[in-house]
Amino acid sequence: MKRYGLFINGKWIEATTDERFEVTNPATGEIVGNCADGGEADVERAITAAHEAFPAWSNQTAKERAEILRRAYELMIAHKDELGEIMTLEQGKPILEAKGEIQYAADFVEWSGEEAKRIYGETIPASATDKRIWVHKQPVGVAAAITPWNFPASMITRKIAPALAAGCTVVIKPAQQTPLTACRIVELFHEAGVPKGVINLITSTHASTVGEALLKDERVRKVGFTGSTAIGKVLMKQAADTMKKISLELGGHAPFIVFADADLDRAVDEVLSSKFRNAGQTCVCANRIYVEQSIGQAFAERLAQKTKELKVGNGMEEGVAIGPLIDSAAADKVEGQVKDAVNKGAKVMTGGHRHTKVGKHPGQKAHFFEPTVLLDVTDEMEVMREETFGPVAPIQYFSSEEEAIAKANHSRYGLAAYFYTENLARAIRVSEKLEFGIVGVNDGTPSTAQAPFGGFKESGLGREGGKYGVEEYLETKYISVRIQ
Ligand code: ADP
Repeated sequence: MKRYGLFINGKWIEATTDERFEVTNPATGEIVGNCADGGEADVERAITAAHEAFPAWSNQTAKERAEILRRAYELMIAHKDELGEIMTLEQGKPILEAKGEIQYAADFVEWSGEEAKRIYGETIPASATDKRIWVHKQPVGVAAAITPWNFPASMITRKIAPALAAGCTVVIKPAQQTPLTACRIVELFHEAGVPKGVINLITSTHASTVGEALLKDERVRKVGFTGSTAIGKVLMKQAADTMKKISLELGGHAPFIVFADADLDRAVDEVLSSKFRNAGQTCVCANRIYVEQSIGQAFAERLAQKTKELKVGNGMEEGVAIGPLIDSAAADKVEGQVKDAVNKGAKVMTGGHRHTKVGKHPGQKAHFFEPTVLLDVTDEMEVMREETFGPVAPIQYFSSEEEAIAKANHSRYGLAAYFYTENLARAIRVSEKLEFGIVGVNDGTPSTAQAPFGGFKESGLGREGGKYGVEEYLETKYISVRIQ
C-alpha cells in the first residue's frame, strides 16, 4: 500500500489538518493507498513555496528547463509499467490503457520541454521612425492545476509541463479518488531535478476549501482546470476577483456521425474505441451516435455484436476491455440514463444493466456496468443531452447531411465531434460546420500532445497541448522604445 504526504517546497510533509484519507480500488473495494488530507493552511504554504521559487525558475535558461523536463519525460517512460499499475489500482482502467495514458502524459512533458526553447517574441514595424515595438513573452507566475480522476496522469502533465516550460511554478490539486499516480509523478519530477518549490502537490478531500484558497490568493496568476462544467463555472466566478487567467476543460457530449458512404467496418471499430475507452469515462467519448438511415440497422447490429464481445472486469486481468466505473454514484447515473431511455421507448440491443458477475469480489459488483447499445433513442432522452460518463452507446438515425449537422450542434457542449465519410467534399463541409473544438474526420481518437485540445460553448475556455497550451502560461508584454 502506498502512503504519501503533501509535497511542498521539495519535501513530503504531513498536512496541518493532521488528517489522512484512504484511496480505494474501484474494481475490488480494497484500500490501495493513504494520503495526507490537505487544508487551507497547506495551500497557503504551497503557494508561498511556489511564489518564492518563481524568480529563480523563470530566470533559468529555456535550455536548462528543457533539460529537466526531458529527464522527467525519460523517468516517466522508464517507470511506465509501475505508473500504469498504480493508475489501474486506483482508477480501474485496463492496464494497457493505463500504460498508454502514461505515454500520452509523458509526451506533453517531452513536447513542452522542447517548445520552451521556441517561446519567441516579435518586433512590429512602428508608425514613427523614432520608435521600436517589441513584443515579449514572459511566464504568468504561480499556476494552479486542478485535475479529475478519469486521466490521473495526463490531466496533470498537460498543465504542469507547459507551465514549467514557460517558467511558471505550480501547485497541483489532483482528484481525491486518484492521488497516487499524481504523487508518484511528482516524485519523478523531483528526481529529474525540478528545484524545490517549483512543483507543489496538495492531496485533499476538501476540494472546495482547497479550490477557494487557490482562487482567492492573488499570488496565483493562472488556474488550469479539467472537470465538470458545474465546477468550472464556480472557478470562473472565483477567478474574477483577482482576474486570474483560466483554462477550463469541461464536460462534453460528443456526437459521432456515420454517413452511408463511410467505411462501415472502420466506423464500427472507431465508435468502439471512442465510446468504450476508460469504460466511457472521458469527456471526448462518443456520447451520441447518429447513423444515416439506409445503413442504420446494419451498423447497429455490427456495433452490438462487437460490444457484446468486450470483456468486463478488473483492469489488471488480461483481456479486460471495460473496467469498473469510478464509484457507485457513477454507476447510478449511468443506470438512471439507461432507465430513462428505456422508459421513453429506447430498445436495448445489448447490455443495459449493472454487471453482476465480475472478478473475485462480487460484493463490489455495483461499480461495473455492462457495455450497452441503445436503438430508437430520441432527443427527449437524458442520454442524448447530458454527459453519460459510462459505457452506453445510443444510436439515432438521420436522413440528410443538414439534419446530421443540426443534431450534432444542438448541444450546450462543444468539445469533440467525430464523423465518418469517404466523400472528401462532405468531409470539408461538415468539419467546417461542426461547432466543436476538436473534430475527428474518420478518426475517433484524435488527442495528441502537439495538438490544441479544448472546447467551444460550455465545454470550456482555452486550449491545452502544443504551442497553444504553452501560450496559456505566458503573458504578452508590449515594449515601446523611443530611440531618439
Ligand atoms: P468529476 O465530477 O469528474 O469528479 P469535478 O468537477 O467534481 O468532476 O472534479 C474535478 C476536480 O475538481 C477534482 O480535483 C475535484 O476535487 C475538484 N473540485 C471539486 N469541487 C471543487 C470546488 N468547489 N473547487 C475547486 N475544485 C473542486
